[in-house]
Amino acid sequence: MSDLADSPAVRRLDDWDLERLESLADEYDTPLYVMDLDRVKANYARFSAAFPDAHVMYAAKAHTGKAVLEAVLEAGGSIECAAWGELRRSIDAGADPNELQYTAVNPPDHDLDYATDLAAEHPGLTITIGAVDTLERLAERGYDGRIAIRINPGIGTGHHEKVATGADAKFGIPYERVPEVAERVREDFDLVGLHAHAGSGVLTAGLEDHCRAISRVGEMARRVGDDTLEFVDVGGGYGVPYREDDEPLDLEKTSNMVREAIGDLEAQLKLEPGRYVVADAGLILSEVNTIKEAPDTTVVGIDASLATLIRPAMFGSYHPMLNVSAPDREAREVTVGGPVCTSADVFAHDRPVARPERGDVVAIGNAGSYGYELASQFHSQPRPAEVALEDGEDRVVRRRETLEDVTRVERESGQ
Ligand SMILES: *Cc1c(COP(=O)(O)O)cnc(C)c1O
Repeated sequence: MSDLADSPAVRRLDDWDLERLESLADEYDTPLYVMDLDRVKANYARFSAAFPDAHVMYAAKAHTGKAVLEAVLEAGGSIECAAWGELRRSIDAGADPNELQYTAVNPPDHDLDYATDLAAEHPGLTITIGAVDTLERLAERGYDGRIAIRINPGIGTGHHEKVATGADAKFGIPYERVPEVAERVREDFDLVGLHAHAGSGVLTAGLEDHCRAISRVGEMARRVGDDTLEFVDVGGGYGVPYREDDEPLDLEKTSNMVREAIGDLEAQLKLEPGRYVVADAGLILSEVNTIKEAPDTTVVGIDASLATLIRPAMFGSYHPMLNVSAPDREAREVTVGGPVCTSADVFAHDRPVARPERGDVVAIGNAGSYGYELASQFHSQPRPAEVALEDGEDRVVRRRETLEDVTRVERESGQ
C-alpha cells in the first residue's frame, strides 16, 4: 500500500502509454472509455495516507462502475452513496452494508424504503439527512437508527456555481438551526455525526474558502457536543488539475489546513473524495472523422459527443486533449466538436493540438469522474464500451451498447 501512496500526485495525458491507447482504440473501437483501476487504487491510497487518522470514503456518484467500486474496496475504502441504486451497486461490488453511508438529498420514497429496509438488516448503515422532513419520513418507516446531520455551512466553494453546494439552500440544514435539529434527532434516533459537502473542484487556491466552511463545521460539532459524535464528515470536492498548467492539490498542505480548520475534536474526521479518486484514472478515446477549414478556425469533428462527456457542455469545463496517433506533429489551434446538433457539443475552442487528421485517435483526459456516469443515449447513440486496465491487462467491463439496447425498453412496452 505504501508504494501506491507514493504514486505521483498528478497524471497528465502524456503520462499514459500512447501506443497502448492507440491499440486499445484499434481493438475495441471508439468512442471508448478507458479506466485504469491501478490508478484508482493509487489515488485512494495517496489521499488516505495524507489523512492517516481519518476515515476516507469514496463518493460513488463520480463513477459507480462495479470494477471501480471493487478497486476502491480492494484499496481499503468504504463508500458514500447518494441514491438507492448506488447503495445496491456498492453491495453488489462487495461492500459491507454496515459501512455504507447514504446521503439523502430530497430523497424519493423508493430511496428511503430501500435504505430503511437495508438498515433493518444492517444497523451499521448511516443515513445523512439534509431536511427535518426526511427525519419524519424515516420515522414513518419505523427507522430509529444512525443519523448524521448535513449542515449548510453558508459558505460555498468550487469551480462552478452549479456545484458550489455549501451555500445553496437545497443542501443541508441551515447552520443556525442545527442545534435544535440535533436535539430532535437525539429524541428518536442515534445521532452519530455531522456532515457538510461544501463544493467541488477545490484546488490549492480554493483551500482557504473550503477551510472556512470546514471550521464552521468543527465549531458546530463542538456546539452540539463532539464527544457525543462518532464522526465529523467534511465531504469531498477535492479537485484535480484539469488544465495543463493547473498544479495538483498539495495533499499534505490540504490535510494540515483541514485539521487546523476543524480544530480539536473528540470525533473522527471523515472525508468523501469522489473525483479525486477517479478523474485522472480515466480517459475517452475518440476518432477524428472530419476536418473542416472555417474562416476563423479549423473544425475537428470527433465521434465522442456531449452524450459521452457532458461536463464541457454543462459546466463549460476544460478537459485536456491529446492526439494519440501523432503527438509529435506540429500543434495548430483547432475547435473540436462531436456529432450532436447543438453548439454546446464542443470539447475545445481554439485549442493547440498536434495537427489532427482524419482517422487519428484523440484522448480526452480526466474523464474518469462524471464521464460514463453522466453519459446518455442522446441522438439515439448507443453508449460506448468501457475498458478497465489492471495489472498490465485490459478487459471490457461494459460492452458497447447496440441500437437494440437503446430501443429495448420501448420494445418491451409494445412499441
Ligand atoms: C458529489 C459528492 C461528493 C464528491 O464530490 P467530488 O467533487 O467528486 O469530490 C462527496 N460527498 C457528497 C455528499 C456528494 O454529493
